Amino acid sequence: MPERAPGLRTLFLHPPSYEGFDGGAGARYQARREIRSFWYPTWLAQPAALVPGSRLVDAPPDGLGVEQVAPLARQYELAVLHTSTPSFGNDLRVAERLKAENPRLLIGMVGAHVAVLPQASLRAAAAVDWVAMGEFDYACAEIAAGRPLGDVTGIAYRDGDRVRVTPPRAPIEDMDALPFVVDVYKRDLTVENYFIGYLMHPYVSLYTGRGCRSKCTFCLWPQTLGGHRYRVRSPASVEAEMALARRHFPQVREFFFDDDTFTDDLPRAEEIARRLGRLGITWSCNAKANVPRRTLEVMRENGLRLLLVGYESGNQQILNNIKKGLRLDVAREFTRHAKALGITIHGTFILGLPGETPETIQQTIRYACELEPDTIQVSLAAPYPGTELFRQAQEQGWLPPLSGDLVNRDGVQVAALNYPGLGQAEMFTSVEAFYRRFYFRPRKLVSMVGGMLRDPAVLRRRVREGVEFFRFLHQRRTAAVPAGPATSGAGA
Ligand code: SF4
Repeated sequence: MPERAPGLRTLFLHPPSYEGFDGGAGARYQARREIRSFWYPTWLAQPAALVPGSRLVDAPPDGLGVEQVAPLARQYELAVLHTSTPSFGNDLRVAERLKAENPRLLIGMVGAHVAVLPQASLRAAAAVDWVAMGEFDYACAEIAAGRPLGDVTGIAYRDGDRVRVTPPRAPIEDMDALPFVVDVYKRDLTVENYFIGYLMHPYVSLYTGRGCRSKCTFCLWPQTLGGHRYRVRSPASVEAEMALARRHFPQVREFFFDDDTFTDDLPRAEEIARRLGRLGITWSCNAKANVPRRTLEVMRENGLRLLLVGYESGNQQILNNIKKGLRLDVAREFTRHAKALGITIHGTFILGLPGETPETIQQTIRYACELEPDTIQVSLAAPYPGTELFRQAQEQGWLPPLSGDLVNRDGVQVAALNYPGLGQAEMFTSVEAFYRRFYFRPRKLVSMVGGMLRDPAVLRRRVREGVEFFRFLHQRRTAAVPAGPATSGAGA
């Protein structure tokens, strides 16, 4: 039995959702993906690490439905659910079911959606007692310790028929004070259940810092929970957690640092790399496409395998429109250097950003083929509440009437914006065209087949993923609502 701490028996729950829905607390793409993908629920694991004796349940990767999860309500006094804009309606139904099982259960919701819309969220959710209005680690810990809701900063809570809002909570500055999440992963999660197509399996992901210095208008987390300062743990703390992670998970083949932009602080990135090199682990991270060659060299020499790079668009004006702070020529040079050093690149692109036209879509497809990342992800622009893109879309009338959903009934993203000269349907079909133009080139096919033949495990996995990919494309075509893979910020 886990150690029983004073305070409330606490369950941290990533709710059951659409089949294959990767809306995890660690997911940047709250939607069903082309292939089975699950990020770690790192955002929930962090407060769970602060609450001794708590339990973290990540329902989607464990294949748990609401029928399996609901009885847990009777074992706990507090349940904290992570939610997102696309999953909010579904998460409310889970909360109602938990409350029906145990009417005395105190239920809180955390995540960007309730942080941006606290009052509206509580009004919509009679079963929910409180929501966190920003970073929620210590708020969860205080509530779990039994502190009255009115004395917990940074939340909105139900008080009879009224909603009360407590004073704001300052962002966490001492990141080293947060306990390691890998202990919670070890205690509560099954690492073999987590897949990301471009990462080796099994993998583990976590954060070494929060926030991103860039101000991309579409990107959710820095504009809601993380902020635009990169608040970091010390390299020594990162090294200590990774050493522990290696002991906990000897079967893990790759560690991924999911910081918004791990390379935002280059000297720190280099120092961490050197420490990881001494540990002898294989690792990957998010990076902006402007990392200088010297830093790439240091990272590569010290175990870096892959960079996840948000290129977004091949049109400079669109990059300027979204405040990406990136020049195409710099991104080209970065890519040349990374490839020359043997670093694998997963490039992410977004269609439907402000300024998009049929011509700029073609330009971006050509740009992707020219850059030749090893793998790509093509998303549709998603106007999440709390982002500048959402405000722009409201002001400019880009949100179609009677719309507002970001995913369809299967949890697959819909084309949510509508521009003069570029409708939702064209944006939607362009995603598939993009994938086809990129992957179905002789050169690309040869390199992919070569990789598969070199490693039978890769072959088996790629065959399975290929079947899932074509099934996904077929479902998109036959879906009543246009759909595609989603993004809430492509990471760096
Ligand atoms: S898209 Fe990347 S670079 Fe831009 S704000 Fe988000 S994490 Fe930062």
